[in-house]
Amino acid sequence: MSLLLPSYHGVHVPEPRREHVKLQWLQPDWQRNTRVREQAKTCPCRVVVYTLFQAGGLAFIRRVDASDTVETERLRAAVTREMWDWLLTGRAV
Ligand SMILES: [Zn+2]
Repeated sequence: MSLLLPSYHGVHVPEPRREHVKLQWLQPDWQRNTRVREQAKTCPCRVVVYTLFQAGGLAFIRRVDASDTVETERLRAAVTREMWDWLLTGRAV
């Protein structure tokens, strides 16, 4: 089995659950984004792609679609990781 198969997909974000939290999305601070490390990313086949970034002891999530790029506030990595889990399980949008 090869990971290079064309059918390979990454993580897909499910439809939000009926009860979900709305995360606060902010305009990216590009000047502050020079030293970030990508930790995880959702499947790029979808219209909306989320990326989890680490920046020192802090982390944030970037949300990209065809018309906009927004990011969460930078928070402790553990807190952002929790938000990431919520996104991937439909508990947050
Ligand atoms: Zn996919």
